[in-house]
Amino acid sequence: MLPDIPFDPSQLLIGGQWRDPSDTLALTNPSDGSDLARIAKGTAAEVDLAVQAAQDALDGDWSSFTAAERGRVLTRLGQLVLENVEFLTTLESLDVGKPTTQARADAVALARYCEFYGGAVDKLLGQTIPYLNGYTVYTLREPHGVTGHIVPWNYPMQIIGRSVGAALAMGNACVLKPAEDACLTALMFAYLAEQAGLPAGALNVVPGLGREAGAALAGHPGVQHLSFTGSVATGAMVQQAAGANVVPVTLELGGKSPQIVFEDADLEAALPFLVNAGLQNAGQTCSASSRILVHSSRFDEVATRMGDAYRAKRIGPANTDPDIGPLINATQRDRVMAFLDGASDLPVLAEASISPDLPQGHYVPARLFGPVKPDHRLAQQEIFGPVQVIIPFETEDEAVAIANGTDYGLVASIWTKDGARQMRLAKRLKSGQVFINNYGAGGGVELPFGGIGKSGHGREKGFEALYGFSTLKTVAAFHG
Ligand code: NAD
Repeated sequence: MLPDIPFDPSQLLIGGQWRDPSDTLALTNPSDGSDLARIAKGTAAEVDLAVQAAQDALDGDWSSFTAAERGRVLTRLGQLVLENVEFLTTLESLDVGKPTTQARADAVALARYCEFYGGAVDKLLGQTIPYLNGYTVYTLREPHGVTGHIVPWNYPMQIIGRSVGAALAMGNACVLKPAEDACLTALMFAYLAEQAGLPAGALNVVPGLGREAGAALAGHPGVQHLSFTGSVATGAMVQQAAGANVVPVTLELGGKSPQIVFEDADLEAALPFLVNAGLQNAGQTCSASSRILVHSSRFDEVATRMGDAYRAKRIGPANTDPDIGPLINATQRDRVMAFLDGASDLPVLAEASISPDLPQGHYVPARLFGPVKPDHRLAQQEIFGPVQVIIPFETEDEAVAIANGTDYGLVASIWTKDGARQMRLAKRLKSGQVFINNYGAGGGVELPFGGIGKSGHGREKGFEALYGFSTLKTVAAFHG
């Protein structure tokens, strides 16, 4: 059951008006399969209205806000998010099936994105460029205009914070299409943004199906920048649709991220990262560490200790704050089970199993496989579930070749005390982020994030996102 929500979750927010949609969809609780609410099934016509409303905001008040004033709105919004952390946590936990502690961390991260971009935006400076005699040349950072944000179901709050937060900071007007499986916190965020003083139309929310509302937004000629997070196949379609309008796209598409454990690794320090980076959010994390590369001299030790950690993990409904909650929907559950059922050739090192007493949610066991060959399907494809493989290696060159040997390149980490090796591998690993003796560095709102290869392109988070959500104008003045 949903708690009392200060708006009607079946409505759309367009131009500052909460409007009845032309059609609705059922929203399901992944923990027990029950119906949570009806949400809007946004149409192309409604996306069109939202894009127009965003353009109207740009043609109106929103463009007159100074950087400091936009920063102040975002800072206030961050404060409101903090005041509503428990409410947002409840919504996200019900909607995504995310264990309470993990949902709360996302809500706090959303506040932190607002604080960070609120505080950063008036510190973003242009350049003056030495040029010919008689000229003064400088650059201006300007918003793209209307930005489209297509967000998946796995981390709605964090992804909205890092993309919509940065886009608003730079003075864009946003149309947000949350995932059909999880949109409550997106609507709540927009509701709080209104309270924080964001002008009508600067943030519009159109929930709906990807192939309908998402596709309409991706191909809309009134959109000047698109930010997409989700699957490779959909990302490619979004890029193609945006390409027809010659619109820049940021794509964040997931990965097969490795952690490399060398013979001198501090296993005590590494162990929680090795396991939790694979099992957080039931493995439904773009930066999940699904491959553990281990020097063969440490294989038995890592396998035993990770196995013990797996067996101690509890799987359950999100509101009981388990280690691992359900997957988002039946399709994802069936997809992950197909990977597990198709891996009967692999040795299972350990499992966290599903109790028969669990309600009718979308649960899967968490499973650790090893030793696994680097070219095995489970070591190559993004599973998006609580599944990890351990791959043994002998030499540094072999470890690098295995780590770089997938289509993806989002995150990688190295566990070694050897400083020279740390520096060498940080350069050799094909990855958007490299962590040394940690994994993820605590989520790091400040740290630019994004991939190479099929993990996508463009960077969000940190100052870098402010560049991504703006365009650079060069001004050359001749004064003699
Ligand atoms: P998806 O890529 O289909 O959906 C992500 C977002 O895109 C959603 O808002 C969806 O409504 C929208 N969308 C879908 N089709 C669209 C279209 N034609 N045009 C525009 N927007 C569209 O992802 P999914 O089906 O929810 O999940 C499937 C797989 O995607 C997962 O198993 C996982 O591998 C991957 N995934 C990755 C991430 C990530 O963070 N990298 C997040 C979610 C899913």
